[in-house]
Amino acid sequence: MYQVILYYNFQPIEDPERFCKAHKKFCKEIGLMGRIYISEEGLNGTAAGTDQQIEEYKNYVWSLPGFDDTEFKQEESDYIPFPRLTCKVREEIVALHVDDVNPENGGKYLEPEDWRRVMEQEDDYVMIDVRNNYESKIGHFEGAIQPDVENFYDFPQWLQEADIPKNKKVLMYCTGGIRCEKFSVLMKEEGWEDVNQLHGGILRYAHEQGGKHFKGKCFVFDDRLVVPVNPQDLSPIARCEITGKPADTYINCANMECNKLFVCSEEGARQMEGCCTEECRQSEYKRPFDPENAFRPFRKWYNYFGEEFKEREVSAAK
Ligand SMILES: [Zn+2]
Repeated sequence: MYQVILYYNFQPIEDPERFCKAHKKFCKEIGLMGRIYISEEGLNGTAAGTDQQIEEYKNYVWSLPGFDDTEFKQEESDYIPFPRLTCKVREEIVALHVDDVNPENGGKYLEPEDWRRVMEQEDDYVMIDVRNNYESKIGHFEGAIQPDVENFYDFPQWLQEADIPKNKKVLMYCTGGIRCEKFSVLMKEEGWEDVNQLHGGILRYAHEQGGKHFKGKCFVFDDRLVVPVNPQDLSPIARCEITGKPADTYINCANMECNKLFVCSEEGARQMEGCCTEECRQSEYKRPFDPENAFRPFRKWYNYFGEEFKEREVSAAK
């Protein structure tokens, strides 16, 4: 088994280039794989390795001045879901493209158990899924608004048009919490007062509250693409774009010129050889597609939770 970690820390870094160089050197030395971004505003990463590699890396991060409070979300995986190590300096560690957004002025943290309590005991709130449309499509909290945006930096524009009353209690969540750190600042600056964010995001909530009230699964930005959240309810909430049957597994179109990310069942993938359209299937840039390999990790969810991998009804809950 390997460990997959997800983490961020908004901690000003004076010389990102230098910080990045040292960081990359350390990661290479211990053989860590993943994607790490560094900017003047802090550190954001997702990485995978053996228990020992991950322990060493966490200790390294905690040893950096100002980073001793870094929180890691951690999951097990039976393979390393990254092809390489990327460690880069970027303008922002998560790109909202809005100046002067300081996470210190962000929304109030709701710990997973408080989040669940609010969902179970209150009803006068607006819940916003602060992720892209292809993420919320396959999984979201009950009752959440799912903005139809393709990038995080489209959220400011979406907010302008969303018509959310300023006196409403706002609950927001994302995968691991980093997007809420910025979007909650923006909402407060724009006049919403009671802004709350799920601390640690869906992934921590899944660990601590078993994914209760979450429908479908969670999109992740590594080779796994989709991970289960609620072991009590593995029903897909989306449909295969080829067969129209219930599915929530994503693949990238096997036509390398297209590479579109789309919801596709194993049956649909076999039928179209991993392509999103007949046109793509005919393309000379089609790479070999091995359904056995592509769907093995997905099939494992069901085995893991002691259920059979089979077609399921699309859950009616929205
Ligand atoms: Zn295609």
